[in-house]
Amino acid sequence: MTRGDPVLEAARLLRGRTDAVALTGAGISVESGIPAFRGWQGLWGKYDPMEYATLGAFLRSPIKVWRMLSEMVALCGDAAPNAAHRGLAELEGMGILRAVITQNVDGLHQAAGARNVIEYHGNMEALVCIACWRRYPTRQRWVDGRAPTCDCGEILKPDVVLFGEPIPWLAQERAEEEARTCGVLLVIGTSAQVSPACDIPRVAKKAGATVVEINPEETALTRTVADLHVPGTATDAVRSILIALSGGEGTPR
Ligand code: NAD
Ligand code: ZN
Repeated sequence: MTRGDPVLEAARLLRGRTDAVALTGAGISVESGIPAFRGWQGLWGKYDPMEYATLGAFLRSPIKVWRMLSEMVALCGDAAPNAAHRGLAELEGMGILRAVITQNVDGLHQAAGARNVIEYHGNMEALVCIACWRRYPTRQRWVDGRAPTCDCGEILKPDVVLFGEPIPWLAQERAEEEARTCGVLLVIGTSAQVSPACDIPRVAKKAGATVVEINPEETALTRTVADLHVPGTATDAVRSILIALSGGEGTPR
């Protein structure tokens, strides 16, 4: 749907609301230096997901899968939140945004000050033993270039959801509830191809929410589910929306 300037339209939809929710994906962290999985710079160009990101692959060959995971741990450890993460935290502080449902495992929403964050795919901060379920902070067991092990001798898995693993039930329940009851859903930086996260915009839309998509590219949602597409990067779009909300003018910083 096109209705004039999409940034101004997004600001108009958010102004005065207290029930907006954001669904974020890898794209929101691209400007923090963490590549997305899809797209020309994506990690999937280097690592076939079916070979590296499934539970089966991990159980068959954990050392091989840790080659990809170690890159993710290093990238997440070095990254700092960007203006989009901070902008969403600001919208939460203003009482407009109620929750962030994120598919990301990098912890950058919390680092930016967001309080109500639902981590749909877990996070990289903890490692869990696939034999005895003991958990460790990643920092404690992490040795660069090697697969970390548990005291019981088994290889540890990061506490993230691999393909073939279920979504943590509490995250799933909370996300569904937010989707069913929000007034506006901001969908930022996700290709909406990973199930079941890709169902969240449809659930929200079906329950009556307005879906605003922020993504420099079109996705499967753009012409089907999204009521409004803001075709910019996450930082530019969120900054511009905040400027418009504050009644300011001019180009985003
Ligand atoms: P994806 O890689 O499938 O898609 C990324 C999307 O972001 C694309 O649609 C792309 O057009 C868009 N994008 C690229 N740059 C952007 C920018 N600057 N601003 C806004 N949008 C931008 O990501 P996905 O849909 O989140 O699915 C990938 C899965 O991999 C997720 O489950 C996620 O958990 C995981 N993952 C996480 C991280 C992380 O934690 N930072 C990084 C890579 C992958
Ligand atoms: Zn163990």
